[in-house]
Amino acid sequence: MSTATETAGAVAAPTLAVWKFASCDGCRPALLDCRDELLAVAGRVRIDSVPEAAGGVAPGPYDLSLVEGSITTPEDAARIRDVRARSRYLVVLGACGSSDGIQALRNYADVADVADGAFQGRVGAAYPSPLYLSTLKYSAPVRDHVKVDYELRGCPVDRGQLLEVITAFLSGRSPAIPDRSVCHE
Ligand code: SF4
Repeated sequence: MSTATETAGAVAAPTLAVWKFASCDGCRPALLDCRDELLAVAGRVRIDSVPEAAGGVAPGPYDLSLVEGSITTPEDAARIRDVRARSRYLVVLGACGSSDGIQALRNYADVADVADGAFQGRVGAAYPSPLYLSTLKYSAPVRDHVKVDYELRGCPVDRGQLLEVITAFLSGRSPAIPDRSVCHE
């Protein structure tokens, strides 16, 4: 496992990006909880994209992308392919991205009925019109759409395990988290 982006004989600082898909936003704050430890390695890691903290998304490429959430819309299906193309390693954070999350409840119903129920306010959401509701038939884990290098499970993820995963991927070794996460080729 190589550690950093290599350019013209020089080794640039590894880059880390964070992406949100369908989720409750509960896992990414664990990254902010790690800010003291991340600051300690800031000299050798460049964080290009943490939406809540930085407010923007740089074009990449990235040595490591952390992805929160499941894939539920055609737009997100295209976006995760784009993220994959920009990322050397892609790690999924939490139950949403590794096993659909609570969004998968709609997988047991007809998606048109769910959309209509949302429009009618029967399932707790109010959309202006179902004409503007774009969705896939199923909410799916990230690995159903792109290659995933690692899944860090939990709801939310454990802060210490998140630090271990980031440190491991950026330093060129496998995360030491037995029995909690899996690799998908
Ligand atoms: Fe929220 Fe749990 Fe999904 Fe994390 S895995 S985004 S905490 S629902």
